[in-house]
Amino acid sequence: MTEIQEREKVRYQVPFARRGSVVDNDDLDALSKVVRSDEPLSSGQWRDEFERRFREHIGTRHALSVTSGTVALEIAIRLLNLRPGDEVVATCQTFQASIQPLLAMNVAVRFCDIDPDTLNLDPDKLEALITPRTKAVILVHYAGNPARMREIVAIARRHGLLVLEDAAHALGSGYQGRRPGSLGDIGCFSFHSSKNMTTLGEGGMLTFDRDDWAARADRIRSNEVDMTAGPVNPALGAPPDVLPWMKFSSAIYRESYTAILGAGTNATLSEPACATGIVQLDKMAGLVRRRRAIAARLDEVLGRYPEIRLPVVAAGDEHAYHLYTCFVTDGADARHALITALDRRGIEVQLRYFPLHLTPEWQARGHGPGECPVAEKLWFSEHVNLPCHPGLSETQVSLLCSALDASLHEVFGRRSSLARG
Ligand SMILES: *Cc1c(COP(=O)(O)O)cnc(C)c1O
Repeated sequence: MTEIQEREKVRYQVPFARRGSVVDNDDLDALSKVVRSDEPLSSGQWRDEFERRFREHIGTRHALSVTSGTVALEIAIRLLNLRPGDEVVATCQTFQASIQPLLAMNVAVRFCDIDPDTLNLDPDKLEALITPRTKAVILVHYAGNPARMREIVAIARRHGLLVLEDAAHALGSGYQGRRPGSLGDIGCFSFHSSKNMTTLGEGGMLTFDRDDWAARADRIRSNEVDMTAGPVNPALGAPPDVLPWMKFSSAIYRESYTAILGAGTNATLSEPACATGIVQLDKMAGLVRRRRAIAARLDEVLGRYPEIRLPVVAAGDEHAYHLYTCFVTDGADARHALITALDRRGIEVQLRYFPLHLTPEWQARGHGPGECPVAEKLWFSEHVNLPCHPGLSETQVSLLCSALDASLHEVFGRRSSLARG
C-alpha cells in the first residue's frame, strides 16, 4: 500500500468508492461450484448463461463478455470501422477510456459540450459538430442518468452516424421504459469493483443487435483474426479430415475473408468471473435501489440550500446513481470551501471527470480551453461528487448526511439556516 492509500484509508470515514466488492455467500457459493467442477475455467457454460441473461436484461440480440469495460470500448470502436481522416463526435465529460483508442487511430474527435442539468452530451450542440467526415457519436450516460437518446439517435440517423453508448454507469438505469446499452448501435458496460455490479473486480460486456458484429467481436476476443467473412471458398477445399470426430469450428477452415481488418486478442472473461456475474446480475436491482435510497437522503439535505443545484432526472427515466453529483452555484470559492469542510469531516469528495478536451493527451491533438464552455464552467466551479454506494453502512450514511448538513451550514451560513425552517 502506498503512503497516500494508507493515509486515505485511515482518514476517510466515508470513502468515495467501496473497498472490496459487495460479495455475499451466494457469490462465494457460485464461485466454489465453478472452481470445484471438472469443467474448463474458460469459455464455457457459465459465460453462455451470463451472456444470455445479460442480453435478456438489456434487450439486445447479443451480449458478449470481455475482461473490462475498457476492452469492451476498444472492441466497440473497432466495430465502427473508422479510417484515418474520419471524425467522431464525443462527449467531453466522461472517463478517458470512452475514447482513448481514438488517440492512436488518426481519427479526429469533435468534443460536444454537455447539458448542465445532467452532464450528458447536449443534443442541441450535436448537429453543428457534424461534418461530411463524421462517422459516429460516442456518449456516456453520466452517473447512470440517461442521455437524451431520442434526440441524439434521431440526429445520428439523419446523418448516417453510428451511436456508441458507454453504459459503464448505467446498469440498472431506465430510459423511457428501455435500457441504456440498447438505445444506440453498441453498448459497453463495466463490471469494475466500483461499478453497479462486479465480476470479481474486473469485467465488461458489449451489447448490440447486429449478427455480423457478434461474429467479429467473438473472433477479436478469442484470438482469431478480425475479418468480414464471405461465402465458403470452394478453392480452399474441405477441412482436413484428421480424425473422424474432429469438426473444425474455426472460421479459417469454413470461410474465405472478404477483408482482414486486424488481429484478435484474448479478452475472455473467466468462468469464475461469469458465474459470479450471474449472481450479481440477479441482485443488481437491489444494489441500485440502495444507491437510490442513499441519493434520496443526500437530495433531502442538499435541497434545503438554495445555493445548491441538483441534477435533473427526466420524467420516465431511472437514475442508477453510479455517481452522486450536485452543483454549487455560488462560485468556485464556495465550492472550494464546501469540499474542504467535507474533507475535514472525513468525507471523501471527488470531481469526476476532468473535461477530456483539457487533458494533456487531447491538448496535444489541438484541443483546449473554450471548446466546451459549459463543461469547463461546471468542473472548475460548481460540480461535486459525493460518496453514494452500497458499501456504505447505515452509520456511514448518517455520518455523511450530518457532515454534509454541517458543512453546508458552515459555508452558506445564516441565509440557509433560515431557509431550513
Ligand atoms: C469504469 C469506466 C470505464 C472503464 O471500465 P473498466 O472496466 O474499468 O475498464 C469506461 N467508461 C466509463 C464511463 C467508466 O466509468
